[in-house]
Amino acid sequence: MKPSGINSIKAKKTIFLLPSFSAIMWCGKIYCRSINRIEKINSTDEIDSTLKSHEMIHVRQAQAMNDSWLRFYWNYIISYIKNLPLITINSKAPYLLLPVEIEAYINENNLKYAEKNQPLYGWKKYKQLTLKDKREIASELFKANTRKKLSSLVNKHLKDKKL
Ligand SMILES: [Zn+2]
Repeated sequence: MKPSGINSIKAKKTIFLLPSFSAIMWCGKIYCRSINRIEKINSTDEIDSTLKSHEMIHVRQAQAMNDSWLRFYWNYIISYIKNLPLITINSKAPYLLLPVEIEAYINENNLKYAEKNQPLYGWKKYKQLTLKDKREIASELFKANTRKKLSSLVNKHLKDKKL
């Protein structure tokens, strides 16, 4: 299904999950092991959790990329490769500092952020962060051991750039 055709986040059961993952998301769907969790997610079309909110943000971002999952995941892989040097700081740093993940993590607590069926372009400004910026952000972030600081750290580095 094209991203623009998705208006609620649904969950499906999967047995193909590494033990370290409780859920994975792929093309606007959540895959998890727990039946209870699946039922809870599917019980309403509303965006009523940060998990659904996070995934819906990715759906709207994919709408902004020619309404194409292929474009979205291609961009994701390329950005991940560019972030690979950050792996020396923390194994999760290359993932967490992807432009699309920065937008998703900063805004996932606002359950209304991706509510409207409209493309989201917020991730574009985070493409301006250099590897040096991201290195500094990652060092601070994992020192603090909290994702709550992500927003303030990213904004500090963006402040001097022309948007
Ligand atoms: Zn994400």
